[in-house]
Amino acid sequence: MTMNRRSFIALTAVSVATPSNLFQPSGNSREANVPWYSVMRRCGQINFNERDPLTLDTEAWAEYWASLKVDAVLLNGGGIVAFYPTQVPYHHRSEFLGTRDLFGEMVAATKRRSARVVARMDCNLAYEDALNAHPEWFERNQDGSPRPHSESPRLLATCMFSPYFSEQMPAIYREINQHYPIDGFFTNGWPSTGPLHVCYCEACRRLYDKLGGTPPADTDASNTLYRKYYQAYMDRVLEIWRLWDGIAREKDPQSVYVGNLGGGIDTVKDIKEISQAAAWFNADHQGRAGETPIWNCAQQGRVAQSVMAGRTITNVSGAYSNTQPVWRHCSKAPAELNLWLAQTTASGMVPWFHWLGGSPEDNRWREVGRSFFDWHASNEPHFRNRGSLADLAVLYPQRTIAFYSRGRGSSRYRGGPVDHLQGLYYALLEGRFVFDFVHEGNLDAANLQKYRALLIPNAAFLSDAQCEAIRQYVKNGGSLLATFETSRYNEWGEPRADFQLADVFGAHVAGEAIGPQGNTYSRIETQHPVLRGFDGTALLPGAEAHIPVKAEVPLVLSVVPWYPAFPPEMVYPRTPQTTEHAAVFREAGKSRVAFFPSDVDRTCWRSGNADLSQLIQNAVKWVRGDDPAISISGEGIIEVFAWKTEPGYALHLLNYTNPNMTHGAIRRIYPLGRQQVRFRVQDRTIKAVRALRLDARLVFKQQGQTVSFDVPSVTDYEVIALV
Ligand SMILES: [Zn+2]
Repeated sequence: MTMNRRSFIALTAVSVATPSNLFQPSGNSREANVPWYSVMRRCGQINFNERDPLTLDTEAWAEYWASLKVDAVLLNGGGIVAFYPTQVPYHHRSEFLGTRDLFGEMVAATKRRSARVVARMDCNLAYEDALNAHPEWFERNQDGSPRPHSESPRLLATCMFSPYFSEQMPAIYREINQHYPIDGFFTNGWPSTGPLHVCYCEACRRLYDKLGGTPPADTDASNTLYRKYYQAYMDRVLEIWRLWDGIAREKDPQSVYVGNLGGGIDTVKDIKEISQAAAWFNADHQGRAGETPIWNCAQQGRVAQSVMAGRTITNVSGAYSNTQPVWRHCSKAPAELNLWLAQTTASGMVPWFHWLGGSPEDNRWREVGRSFFDWHASNEPHFRNRGSLADLAVLYPQRTIAFYSRGRGSSRYRGGPVDHLQGLYYALLEGRFVFDFVHEGNLDAANLQKYRALLIPNAAFLSDAQCEAIRQYVKNGGSLLATFETSRYNEWGEPRADFQLADVFGAHVAGEAIGPQGNTYSRIETQHPVLRGFDGTALLPGAEAHIPVKAEVPLVLSVVPWYPAFPPEMVYPRTPQTTEHAAVFREAGKSRVAFFPSDVDRTCWRSGNADLSQLIQNAVKWVRGDDPAISISGEGIIEVFAWKTEPGYALHLLNYTNPNMTHGAIRRIYPLGRQQVRFRVQDRTIKAVRALRLDARLVFKQQGQTVSFDVPSVTDYEVIALV
């Protein structure tokens, strides 16, 4: 069934409205010297396919995006396929373009509705005629052969070190800029935050000659050629990003280029470096598959915030089923899609709603996007954030995640690179803590001073300067929680004789890491606030891997070493009691330091063990201290974001309490009951508290700086505005 224009419009709620009165994009109405994309709050994308020029109804699509009150629409210009009559040689026109200018028509239809247009480009692939004319544009295998796309082998991979990126793409951008009133460019699939790939084209071979050899094909920070290649690769990414951004601005300084990033919490390329070139960070984090937890979109937001510091971040939400296996032309479950959009917004990103193909046969996704965006637009001032109110910082350990468990230096106990962070994160959700990510490249007094504690999930690779910043933070009264091999290696993974932060931890390395192995334990030796709630047991589960340490503090938790778990006759401790520290707790001035010389966070995530989560939560509470900035009591697994906003404050609550929290699409929502909130405001008398999803005023009390109120229920998402 192909949808004609009439039935398409019948599906949109605004079929009788005239285009001009549909909406006023916020991007046009604000201060003139502020770039339009910095005040953009919603965007949409229809991703054309080669055949779309035959059937695509531009007015109907423009009408749909207008009904979502978007500030900008992403439209395919070219790169792989040109959807306009290009004159640039080897820029492949759609085989079905005929006499049509699909891009131009769609730009015009969108502009008539006062939305911005960003030309969506693809720089990663081109056709064989280009290969014949410009063999130097293409990536090569070691034998010199080009690299065809695995599913569409007529397309061949282009190389970012080649003139395809520095000459051909610029020629295409300039042609589009000259002929169409667009507001920016976006490239699909480049540069990404994933691993580097190694190419053997002419340009790359010249680069390798300069570097002194060919880098290894896999991520391996222990290899000096890899290190040089990593820096050369990052330099080229920044060079190209800046070149294309300059071209975008040739016609209008308010225009912009944005690349494609994302990757959630698993990044190899240095996003801190990329953020130095990026005016706008687009996260292509469209959904989840497999065992990825539902909160992965909020994590993407936190990672991006850790380098963008309030500048524009968008996140693409795929309206299609982008699981594994993938279905490009069927809708995602509405509850899953809603919660993804909600996390985008809660974490301070701009939602970008995405569908592929101009003639959908599945139209269920449309209303999901429209109702969310309509609600979002009605409450827009409350999504204009002015800063996070979190009082805890989680260090985002970029290089540890990038390099630690990849490459030939990997040891057995080095698990998945993100498992440590994921374990801490889950405990933070269970404990309903309010926290930010701080990128390891931003560890300075200015960025850390607002936080009561810094939490470090196994940042094994840290530079001397980063360690010094952490030391100064603690010296100045900040508290610290750290795990396992934090500071054991320099930024490239070269081992140090001791933790660089041994003085801060109050613990020194006394042997090589042991594990991973199950059936190890911790023994409660003395009472301590971190051990509250463990009445009735002398033993707690131990982490899978630990480092023997020497510490000059009283023994609180000791290590009970591994003993056999099978067969039952053999299951008894061989060494029931040791004096080895499983955790080190110390206080110095106003600072509290909790150090677990073990992968307690990773073990917590891998096992799902409730005691380990409780232990981490207790330790976080202890280092943070009493009277948090925001506390929320009630049932359920929720994620919390709290922002200072243009009109006041906003508290975002995401309800993850669901059997599909860590597997499968969320298909229905299990609403939570009453949540009691205490929220500290900064020198302001609150006049009203409103739940924006319930669309209800809440009764509240203010005593000094503390505002107390009850949220009667949380369905999937609630935003409480305090003004
Ligand atoms: Zn190359």
